[in-house]
Amino acid sequence: MASKTKKQAILIQSPKGMHDILPEDYELYQKVYEKAEEISEYYGFSPIQTPHLERTELFGASLGETSDIIEKQMYTLRTTGGNHLALRPEGTVGVMRAYLEHGMHTLPQPVMLRYKGSFFRHERPQKGRYREFQQFGLEIINEEKASAEAIVIKILTLTLEELGAGPIIVRINSLGDKDCKAGYRKDLLSYYRKKINGLCKSCQKRYKTNPLRLLDCKEEGCAEIKKEAPQMINYLCNPCKQHFKEVLEFLDSSGIPYFLDTYLVRGLDYYSRTVFEIFKDSKKKQEGEAENEVEETQIALGGGGRYDYLAKMLSRKDFPAIGGGLGVDRVVQLLKEKDAKAKTNKTPKVFFVQLGSAAKHKSLDIMEKFRKTHLSVAQSMGKDSLKGQMKIADKLNVPYALIMGQKEVMEESIIIHDMNSRAQETVSVDKVVEIIKQKIK
Ligand code: AMP
Repeated sequence: MASKTKKQAILIQSPKGMHDILPEDYELYQKVYEKAEEISEYYGFSPIQTPHLERTELFGASLGETSDIIEKQMYTLRTTGGNHLALRPEGTVGVMRAYLEHGMHTLPQPVMLRYKGSFFRHERPQKGRYREFQQFGLEIINEEKASAEAIVIKILTLTLEELGAGPIIVRINSLGDKDCKAGYRKDLLSYYRKKINGLCKSCQKRYKTNPLRLLDCKEEGCAEIKKEAPQMINYLCNPCKQHFKEVLEFLDSSGIPYFLDTYLVRGLDYYSRTVFEIFKDSKKKQEGEAENEVEETQIALGGGGRYDYLAKMLSRKDFPAIGGGLGVDRVVQLLKEKDAKAKTNKTPKVFFVQLGSAAKHKSLDIMEKFRKTHLSVAQSMGKDSLKGQMKIADKLNVPYALIMGQKEVMEESIIIHDMNSRAQETVSVDKVVEIIKQKIK
C-alpha cells in the first residue's frame, strides 16, 4: 500500500528539471515575450518558428563534439522509422538551418529573425537552471558589421530594462577569428601545460579536447590558475581588433553598461569574434534600495555572440551572423524577486506612537524624514492612548516602535522600543532615522 502511494506521488511529479508554468506566472512570461517582441519588431526582426526536434547530426556538426551540450546534455531519440532526432538544445542552429534550407540569402540582406519557445538541456537542475527552459532569441544573418552586435545587445538590454529587471551589465569579449584564435590557443596550451597537475579532472580533459573551455571552469584551483593565463584580447589580428573596437564604440554611444571580461569564452564551437553575456548588475544601487540589499544573482540573464563560420559548417556558403537570447525563466524569476522585495520594502518596519497633540504635530516632520529614505512607517493618529497604539504595533508585527510624548518633544528626543525584547533607548530626533536604518539592516 505504502509503495503504491509512493508510486502515485511520483506519477504526479513533473520530470526532473522541467516545470509547470502556473497561471500566476504565465502572465509574467507573456509580459517578457511581449516586451521583447515589441522592441525587436520595431527594429525590423521578423518572427520564425523552427521545430522542437532537429536531426541529431545537425547539432553535432555545429556546436562542437567536445562542447558540454553534445557530450552530455542533448535529449536524443530514435523514431520508429529509424531517424535520429534531438530536442533542440539552443535556437541559433535551427534558425541557420532554416535560412539555408529556404534560400533566405535571396531575400534583402541581412535577414533579421526572432524566435521564442522551449529548449532542452540535460543539465544538473539548480536555481535558474532547468532541463526545459524558455528563451527569446534574435539572429541577424549575413551581416558582418559591428552595428549588428550593437542592435542585438541593445534590444536585449532594453527589454530587460523596460521590464524593470535592471540595472544590468554586459560582459563582453572577443574570441578573434580562425587565424588569431589559433595563435592564442597555442599559447594557452603552453601556459596550461606547466600547470596541468593543478587542474580539476574535467579541465585536464578540456586541456586535450577544448582548451578555451579551461577559462570557463569555476573550480577554485582552476580559477586561480586562470588569473595569469594569456588573454585573447592581446592576440586579436588588426581586422578583429578594429571590429571589436567598433562594437564597444556602439555600446558606448548607446549608453549600454558593459565591462571587458577577457576570459569570457562561451561553450560552443561556432562562436567567433564578439561574445557577450548579460547579468543583473548587483553592485549598482537603485533608488530606494539600501547598500548590500541588491540581488546577488550571478547567473546570466542572456547571452550571445557572433558566429561567422556556422553557415560554412552546414553548407558550402559563408554567411557571417550574430545572435543572442534571453533566458526567460530567469528574467521572470528576477522580476518576481524584485516584486517581492518591493512589497517587503513597503511593509512597515516601524510604528510611530504619538502621545499628545505636540507629539502628533512633530511626527509629521519625522515621518517625512523616514519617507525620504524609503523606510515605511505606520502610525495611528486617531488613537491617543499608549496601550491602544502599542496594540496596533503588535498586530502589524513591526520590529520597532517609536514613542514620542510631551517630554520627548521638549527634549527633541524619541524612544526606540524593541518589540521583541521590550528594551528601550532614548535617542535624539536628528539621529533616529539613521539608527533605525542600521537596526533594520
Ligand atoms: P545560451 O543558449 O547558453 O547562450 O543561453 C542563453 C540564455 O538562456 C542564458 O543566458 C540563460 O539566461 C538561459 N539559459 C541557458 N541555459 C539555461 C537553463 N538550463 N535553464 C534556464 N535558463 C537557461
